[in-house]
Amino acid sequence: VRVALDVPVDSCFDYLAEVDRGDIGRRVLVPFGKRKLVGVILGLAQESGVATDKLKAAVRVYRDTQPLDDHILAVFAFCRDYYHHPIGEVVVNALPPGLRRAKAVLGRGMEVVRLTDAGRALDVTTWPARAVVKRRLMVALQAGGSMPRDAIRALSRRAPCLLRELADAGLIRVERMLAAVTNDISDPPSPPTLNSDQQAAFDAIASGLSRFVVTLLYGVTGSGKTEVYLHLTAETLARGRQALILVPEINLTPQLEATFRARFPGIAQISLHSKLSEGERAQSYLAAQSGVARIVLGTRLAVFTPLPQLGLIVVDEEQDASFKQHEGLRYSARDVAIYRAKLLAIPVVLGSATPSLESYHNARAGRYQLAQIRSRAVPDAALPEVRIVATTGNMPEGVSPPVLQALRERLERGEQSLVFINRRGYAPVLLCGQCGWISGCPRCSARLTLHAPRHRLRCHYCGLETAAPAACPECGNADLRPVGQGTQRIEARLIREFPTASILRVDRDTASSKASLQSFIDRVHGNDVNILVGTQILAKGHDFPGLTLVAVINADASLYSSDFRAEERLFAQLMQVAGRAGRAGLRGEVLVQTAFPRHPLFAALKNHEFAAFADAQLQLRREHHFPPYTYQVLLRAESLKQEAALEFTQRASALAKPLAKNVRVFDPVPAQPARIAARERWQLLLQSASRSHLQLLLNTWRPQLATLAARDVRWAIDVDPLEL
Ligand code: ADP
Ligand code: ZN
Ligand code: ZN
Repeated sequence: VRVALDVPVDSCFDYLAEVDRGDIGRRVLVPFGKRKLVGVILGLAQESGVATDKLKAAVRVYRDTQPLDDHILAVFAFCRDYYHHPIGEVVVNALPPGLRRAKAVLGRGMEVVRLTDAGRALDVTTWPARAVVKRRLMVALQAGGSMPRDAIRALSRRAPCLLRELADAGLIRVERMLAAVTNDISDPPSPPTLNSDQQAAFDAIASGLSRFVVTLLYGVTGSGKTEVYLHLTAETLARGRQALILVPEINLTPQLEATFRARFPGIAQISLHSKLSEGERAQSYLAAQSGVARIVLGTRLAVFTPLPQLGLIVVDEEQDASFKQHEGLRYSARDVAIYRAKLLAIPVVLGSATPSLESYHNARAGRYQLAQIRSRAVPDAALPEVRIVATTGNMPEGVSPPVLQALRERLERGEQSLVFINRRGYAPVLLCGQCGWISGCPRCSARLTLHAPRHRLRCHYCGLETAAPAACPECGNADLRPVGQGTQRIEARLIREFPTASILRVDRDTASSKASLQSFIDRVHGNDVNILVGTQILAKGHDFPGLTLVAVINADASLYSSDFRAEERLFAQLMQVAGRAGRAGLRGEVLVQTAFPRHPLFAALKNHEFAAFADAQLQLRREHHFPPYTYQVLLRAESLKQEAALEFTQRASALAKPLAKNVRVFDPVPAQPARIAARERWQLLLQSASRSHLQLLLNTWRPQLATLAARDVRWAIDVDPLEL
């Protein structure tokens, strides 16, 4: 057997085992050095490059679960080839952790007895009449298709003893599945009638349920995209297929889960994300793989779930950066989803209020179908009014008079406000006004953030934490100044201004767990909060009906960034926070503080004109040969030694240049930040207007890099990098 193992080696490993073709895709336990590892059988062979007396035998082949199917194995092969990543790491990391262990960790779940095709076809009247219990059992199963094992005991005390016999005869299967997998709401609310834009979007997608089409479903927050997903899912289920819905944030899954459960009672549904317990995740995965679960919701990792009857993929908030993994296999779940859909000839829907420029460009060029929902679904939920507030001069505590005034009005009217600032802590840096000392991290080329109230300095890159000095370590000056604002400082400022208001700060420091975030959200819904101060944790998806004001404190950092995607991200983020304001009949208002009020991004934001913004950005991208007009690959290298990382990228560049046909090889540059946790970081960018030329280069170059003996350098290839 050729086995994929989770080791950074490009090939499979050969072992001896008694197998047949049906074992391809099965997990297998093999000796590897001193350890035993779980791998996946990718192929069978009669001979091996390893001498026969050196070949080791596999310990066991796991036949208690189904093998991975050809389709998902083809998806893994695509990831290996496209992202140039070792196949073993691709395959094993796509398994839930519970199935990577020698003894699989499975949640307890519930046993379900299910008819096989043979069982369904069986005519029980051909059985002798004295086989009373057996007949009763089969009749019950044929009526419903499946039954929980406990319910079978209720048929007859002897029934459970018959299960083994019926399974051996190939009439039934006993499967374990999650207890939570189905719901039994008997009385689902009837779905709303789609409005004309929603209906048009639905028709455009539903007319192509049996072919590959990518549809960009573009509509502002609250326009009813989720409702379109629900209708498409219903249609997919009706055709006997499974639906996969990908969302960017774990925090968004409970809300969406509840929506889907309420709409589809009796339909087995699972969620997959990294916060599940090992057993629960493995159980859910197996329920999807066996076809028991019909609806699968999940974050990016769910894109690798084997689904034998997959018929629809939805990627919600497709522009979100969290669909891209930034370590190990650097895949984009959106792009893998599109590839899966193509292989299976099924539709994939990319939903967004602010599509990525890549997807938007593809839609404009006719490669994707564009479906647009033009207004909010609930008639009186108008889009919020956006006001740009010019900041001037010295505003050490960050909140401008117009914002204070707007907050005051909301307090008087008993409405809620959200003050958005994308930085936690008290201030991003501590400064000595006398000698110019600033609080830098000794291990990173980054500043230490001041955190109140315990007056600590923290590095947001490496986690280093120290007490803030009482006086300047350089000159002894006791008057150190916090510079800039974080959530804590804004909160403190607002408490002073509005001493009787209930102010709640929500950032990673206060809402570290799912439970605490949920309790905050409950407090907001309970109208127990007047002003929320928070980071992007709050920006996504949450619906706060009483919220009528969003104030954005500091948007400027992204306006003149060296990253060409910074503006795109800022625009998406501002549209998203703006979408929090005024959803339930109360007109919302958004105030954005900026030192650059005439920046064109704000004009587009004021008019809620994504298209105008996107067109202007695309124009710039085209002029500067940036994606989506070109494709990029980034080589990242890091080392404790500065010269080692630099030299590696230089040698890599020298190797790439002679291979470069229609590919531009840039000079190595330091990454941003150049040092994290004492590791020096360098990177090398390759760029081409032709994806295939870039791939051709990588095919030769990537193996050459592996031979550059550089023991003290860690490096990785990032295809389609999102951050430079
Ligand atoms: P999005 O996913 O685009 O942010 P949602 O699908 O969550 O928007 O819809 C926003 C609100 O509008 C929800 O409360 C939803 O129930 C409601 N809604 C959506 N479509 C309709 C419709 N056709 N008729 C009435 N209400 C709708
Ligand atoms: Zn000083
Ligand atoms: Zn650090």
